[in-house]
Amino acid sequence: MNWAALGEETIELLRRYLMIDTTNPPGNEIAGARFLAEVLSRDGIESETIEAAPGRASLRARLAGDGSLGGIVLHHHIDVVYADRRYWTVDPFGGAIAGGYLYGRGAIDMKSTGILHLAAMLAIKRARVPLKRELVFLATADEEAGSEFGAEFIATRRRDWLAGAEYAISELGVIQTHSGLTAPLAAIVISEKTGLPLTVTARSEPGHGSMPWPDTAPNRLVRALTRLLDAERPVRVLPEVQEFFTRMADLLPGTQGAGYDDLARSLQDGAFRARFFENRQYGAMVQTTFAVTMLRGSEKSNVIPPEASAQIDCRMLAGDDPEEIAGWVRRVVADPNVQVEIAREPKIPNLSPPDTELYKAMADTLRRRAPGAVVAPMILVAFTDNWVFRRCGLHGYGFSPFVLEDAELQRIHGNDERISLENIREGVRAYTEMLVEVAGN
Ligand SMILES: [Zn+2]
Repeated sequence: MNWAALGEETIELLRRYLMIDTTNPPGNEIAGARFLAEVLSRDGIESETIEAAPGRASLRARLAGDGSLGGIVLHHHIDVVYADRRYWTVDPFGGAIAGGYLYGRGAIDMKSTGILHLAAMLAIKRARVPLKRELVFLATADEEAGSEFGAEFIATRRRDWLAGAEYAISELGVIQTHSGLTAPLAAIVISEKTGLPLTVTARSEPGHGSMPWPDTAPNRLVRALTRLLDAERPVRVLPEVQEFFTRMADLLPGTQGAGYDDLARSLQDGAFRARFFENRQYGAMVQTTFAVTMLRGSEKSNVIPPEASAQIDCRMLAGDDPEEIAGWVRRVVADPNVQVEIAREPKIPNLSPPDTELYKAMADTLRRRAPGAVVAPMILVAFTDNWVFRRCGLHGYGFSPFVLEDAELQRIHGNDERISLENIREGVRAYTEMLVEVAGN
């Protein structure tokens, strides 16, 4: 394959894709889907587009395999989050290239990965690579706002789009380099934490603000929340999380990784625990978390309301049981006038094994892309569409052959999001070679 030409073509495709504004809300993913369909059709690849609601489009295309092995779904979300132009130095939808970087909302999260999928499909089709695994290109709507009009819609209404597939690959595994590590750390996402929204409601009689008493509804709520936040939810170190930190310990200079080889034991030590939890992400990887996010009381400052409530954004790790968590919160709150309810049907966390054929091929690819890199399985503390596809019976992974510094990762959902041209050129080659290796005959 002519990698140099493919690299330049991929840059141009991404530049054009980034210029399509698919900010969610409203999404308007149909504009992105039309672009993808047109690019695919120029190479004779048919695609199908569905709309879950007007403008909320998802698209699917495929390169057929010989049916001997299960297919691979390459999925990305067309939508992006809001970009506040006041804080950008370039137009977030202008397709600017400067200093070796391509700028735009979605440059990392995740139009870039989508375009690698697209370019790899084109390259494999042009080279007439015989496939033992079908390759499915899937672009979804609405991932940034809960997936109802995208992955969830496909899972419930167009399950046939996933027929015969064994694997799903999407975003957010990356090769991270930062000054604190002696070599790059390459993560492959195998699971995501999922939300268990809780509503805590306190009740009492209403009254006048001039004559308060100790057990008003807001007072009860404040005390209940204080007890919840002060309670120590036990840590739970999943084997995969332990492996992540064992690998990371090898990359930390001096004694910085001390204790990482047996986290369950080390976290019993107060000083170690305090240091470990300073990193919010690490803390969230070993614990069910409770974030108080919305509070509601009276409509007027001089009226004591009969009801006060809080929304808790609770996030579960694989193996967590929603009823057990709700029961634990009720015990900790310990007030019969305070009700704890699960607000929405919970998404039960799921996890894919880090030892499948695809996982191994992705790990090899990452080591080739960044020589010396250590590959580790990772549990993402945020949500992706992979959860939906795992629930449909596929092994779902987050993988990307991009080498990124910490500072670049901060630009995700932030300002001046960008990707280096080198990452696009080398990334499309790495991705295509990986697919040929795993799916080719
Ligand atoms: Zn994303």
